[in-house]
Amino acid sequence: MPIRTRFAPSPTGLLHIGGARTALFNYLFSRHHGGAFLLRIEDTDRARSTPEATRVILEGLEWLGLVPDEPPLYQSTRAARHAEVAREMLAAGRAYQCFCTAEELAAMRAQAIAEGRPPRYDGRWRDRDPREAPPGVAPTIRLRAPREGETLVRDLVQGEVRVANAELDDLILLRSDASPTYLHAVVVDDHDMAISHVIRGDDHLTNTFRQAQIYQAMGWEAPHFAHIPLIHGADGAKLSKRHGAVSVLEFREQGFLPEALCNYLLRLGWGHGDAEILSREAAIELFDLGGVGRAAARMDYAKLTHLNGVWLRRADPDRLTDEVMRRLTPPPDEAARERIAALMPGLRERAKTLVELTDNAAFLVRMPPLSPKAAALLDAPARRMLAALAAALQTVPFEPAALDAALRAFAAAEGRKLGEVAQPLRAALTGSTSSPGIEAVLAALGAEAALARIRAVAT
Ligand code: GLU
Repeated sequence: MPIRTRFAPSPTGLLHIGGARTALFNYLFSRHHGGAFLLRIEDTDRARSTPEATRVILEGLEWLGLVPDEPPLYQSTRAARHAEVAREMLAAGRAYQCFCTAEELAAMRAQAIAEGRPPRYDGRWRDRDPREAPPGVAPTIRLRAPREGETLVRDLVQGEVRVANAELDDLILLRSDASPTYLHAVVVDDHDMAISHVIRGDDHLTNTFRQAQIYQAMGWEAPHFAHIPLIHGADGAKLSKRHGAVSVLEFREQGFLPEALCNYLLRLGWGHGDAEILSREAAIELFDLGGVGRAAARMDYAKLTHLNGVWLRRADPDRLTDEVMRRLTPPPDEAARERIAALMPGLRERAKTLVELTDNAAFLVRMPPLSPKAAALLDAPARRMLAALAAALQTVPFEPAALDAALRAFAAAEGRKLGEVAQPLRAALTGSTSSPGIEAVLAALGAEAALARIRAVAT
């Protein structure tokens, strides 16, 4: 059976990083085995699904580099097929019509709860003749689920999981308005899409028993299942907004690189020896479901930030320059771009996110206000020294090696340590007390802007 996986999000909100991790695992698994990765938008819940949420999912997946191999399938377009399969089961006696009214079902439920039983459908129409149907009640179609024995799922992550069939009631496949239930639609779609492996969050594990029964009833071969643990916060509760960012696009906004986020999500609950930094190629080569742990993974924002710093230092400087340009407001001109590009090798060493990188690069566009620490460095002696320095630099070619030599010569002539010259100079040029090497900053700013900034504070 060719390997085909799918990511099947419901477009009812944002793309949660738990979902992104599920998509990543599906993607890596299919790539590792030379198979296909598909996307199904589960938009059957018309009231809760929005086009905006679908757009956010597509945008998030594209940003993460998890683009499906075929156009996305929209579950809502398949209602006729879902109904057809339910009617096939009905014709084969694997399903039956249930004419219970909403009131009857509510009463059944209330009674079960009052008697301390789990509220299950009691199967009252399972063997009843539909000719006894009360007038005016549109039937639902229910699965004639096995009552004896057990349903067994051999999960590739969770191992063998089983449930006694007596615990499961006859689930509804098709509602009285002919719309499919979620459990039924998923099975029909996975079958028709020829999905070989269903990799999803372990909150769906209990659904799997019922889905396995639908496969059996249709005589279809079920896919392999792999239920991966959910992501929790540091406190052990399911990861939610109160822990920090959860939406993929929010991480993008906060300046994370997609390769860093993917690397982090991969390592969260999946391991391969000590390997921490994994490129997409390495991940494809190494990924398999055997390395997925069973315990819930805990989100560690500090670790993600650290990893992002590692990936920033590996990233192409031109790409980082583009990112910084996009983030600066108002949009800087081409001259500013050149300065940022010139200093990028030094800038990216000092930042952990694109937001930080942008903040650190902003001085190249316009002189920011002095930070309190920088202002403190610019006392009267420092300002006098800077006046002399401006004069000394006037004849120096503005490229790093020559500038470095000139600064050293100036410091020696003044009887100062290099740092005593560089720190006030840094304050004058950048408004802050930390930056890439001072000669690189001077060179990136260029003679005109650099000398103007020095003179602006010199006395
Ligand atoms: N639509 C479901 C969700 O968003 C996933 C269903 C599945 O993967 O089978 O949780």
